[in-house]
Amino acid sequence: MPTYEYRPVDPNRSCDHCRSGFEVVQRMTEPGLTVCPQCKNPISRVLFAPTVVIKGSPVTETDRKIKEYEKEGKWSHAAELADKEAEKTKREDLKIRALENYKKAGYNFDKYDT
Ligand SMILES: [Zn+2]
Repeated sequence: MPTYEYRPVDPNRSCDHCRSGFEVVQRMTEPGLTVCPQCKNPISRVLFAPTVVIKGSPVTETDRKIKEYEKEGKWSHAAELADKEAEKTKREDLKIRALENYKKAGYNFDKYDT
């Protein structure tokens, strides 16, 4: 099951539980939380985890294209491209990127949850 990260909408109205953010394991079909289970103050889901930067990876034409797709929010396009390129070049960073983009596209690739 995917893990979602939540942060308080207003850090001034938060408790120890949600102040610095917390993670919840939920099914994709479950509705997201809107309030902190402890203090009942509004929280919001963190949609985009910071991108993993791997030093020394070459920037190719494909990288630029993936970035373009990502900018436009075409996650499945970006994922497919990254996936293909990762296969071709055996680049780990692209494999991770493909997974992240598939996630953003809403794919459930959690093989152990079927
Ligand atoms: Zn709280």
